[in-house]
Amino acid sequence: MKHELLPLFVAAGLSDSRIVRHYGVAPLTVLRWRKAEGLATQWKPKVVEHGESAYKKRGCRCDVCRAANTKAQQTGNVRRRALTEANGGIAPIARHGLSTGRNWGCWCEVCRGAIKAANDAWTATHRRAG
Ligand SMILES: [Zn+2]
Ligand SMILES: [Zn+2]
Repeated sequence: MKHELLPLFVAAGLSDSRIVRHYGVAPLTVLRWRKAEGLATQWKPKVVEHGESAYKKRGCRCDVCRAANTKAQQTGNVRRRALTEANGGIAPIARHGLSTGRNWGCWCEVCRGAIKAANDAWTATHRRAG
């Protein structure tokens, strides 16, 4: 994580919580950076639990919360895909489409079509001419 601007922010008098928001990292991360840069602070961030629930309930997008959410998502996907498999390859839910195809591994026409369309769109956007 880059934080070259940290000394400038500190010199400009930005509050620590503002710096935290700017970088989108955990308060403790900013404290660590400050320590590494020799920029002491009186700031005592309230130490909060970071993880899946912080991601969902508080909308925290720090590294810890994002990783926890990704992991939970993957664990959930494994469980969902097992249900889909048990259901003959069709997700046992009402709504079908892109996210159902991706998260449930559903192979119905709707989900497959949505995934293909999304993939095509992605390819079209990212393909470089030449
Ligand atoms: Zn967090
Ligand atoms: Zn489907």
